[in-house]
Amino acid sequence: MTPFDYVRPTTIPEAIAAASEPGTAVLAGGTNLLDLMKAGAASPKRVVDIGQIAGLDSVEVLADGALRIGALVRNADLANHFEILARAPAVAEALLSGASPQLRNAATVGGNLLQQTRCPYFYDVASACNRRADGAGCDALGGQTHGHAIIGWTETCIATHPSDFAVPLVALDAEVEIEGPAGRRLLPLEQLYQLPSEAGAPSPALAPGEIVTALLLPPSATPLAPHSRYLKLRERTSYAFALVSAAAALRIADGRIIEARLALGGVAARPWRARNAEAALSGAEPGAELFVEAGRLAVSEARPSGDNASKITLAARVASRALARAAHGTPETISALPASVFSPVEGELSDA
Ligand code: SF4
Repeated sequence: MTPFDYVRPTTIPEAIAAASEPGTAVLAGGTNLLDLMKAGAASPKRVVDIGQIAGLDSVEVLADGALRIGALVRNADLANHFEILARAPAVAEALLSGASPQLRNAATVGGNLLQQTRCPYFYDVASACNRRADGAGCDALGGQTHGHAIIGWTETCIATHPSDFAVPLVALDAEVEIEGPAGRRLLPLEQLYQLPSEAGAPSPALAPGEIVTALLLPPSATPLAPHSRYLKLRERTSYAFALVSAAAALRIADGRIIEARLALGGVAARPWRARNAEAALSGAEPGAELFVEAGRLAVSEARPSGDNASKITLAARVASRALARAAHGTPETISALPASVFSPVEGELSDA
């Protein structure tokens, strides 16, 4: 491992000053950065450990009704927090779908949102990777791509974002609070994730010295809570990143959908908001045909980045099933190990 400086600030201004140095990485739970450093895929000159900063580990309701979740809240704690279960049960379901109990006890909200792609070529330092070294090339192209992107990719990078947690959050219009040398700003979570361009891999959305200090869940999420689900398809049910996933949330009144939210995971460099599907769902009567059509619309921009054309079909089906389960209603309790997408559920589509 390359030697590095270790800094442990106790205030946000100290952390910003320390993180403004070139070559800095911010450490929270350590469940991703330490792996990257051990593999040689990250070699920061300085590690700024923000774990001792007071006030970043609380959940509070703000005056405008939004839920403010500190960046150091642990994933396990948030998944079981009564405010999340009441306002955004699909977020709890997504958190419980991610990683293992041990990792969820250590991983933090900010670290989960800012984790790196799980593209195996990114972690293998013998492979060319534009994300590790801009202009180096991309050895994933023409390689093993069954887990790679089907939407929003270019020849410079075909990686996906691995977070489950971020998928329902993007569907629910969550924002991140960022502190930096220029002060505090809010950013829609969706914009924290940049897509690759024809010219290069995604550029970071955070400027040098900027730190994510909190996540904001708007009050508009709460009316969607009674019909919210997160559904994840993975190669190993106990512990694996999503091959494809979907977060669906509906507001249903008088037998009609009056508001719909849908986002896909595992398909692009950001959680993919399917706004065309949302528009088709709004005002319609819930039903199997409608949900199949919405799933088809959700992947209308998809194209394979290699041997992964099957992901397009899978993503459409998982989206349809997530919508069907959401229409059926949010379960009273969120299981610690969410059910397989193949488990039959009352009201489930059998052919989607
Ligand atoms: Fe790197 Fe992206 Fe190519 Fe993976 S897909 S090797 S992360 S450039």
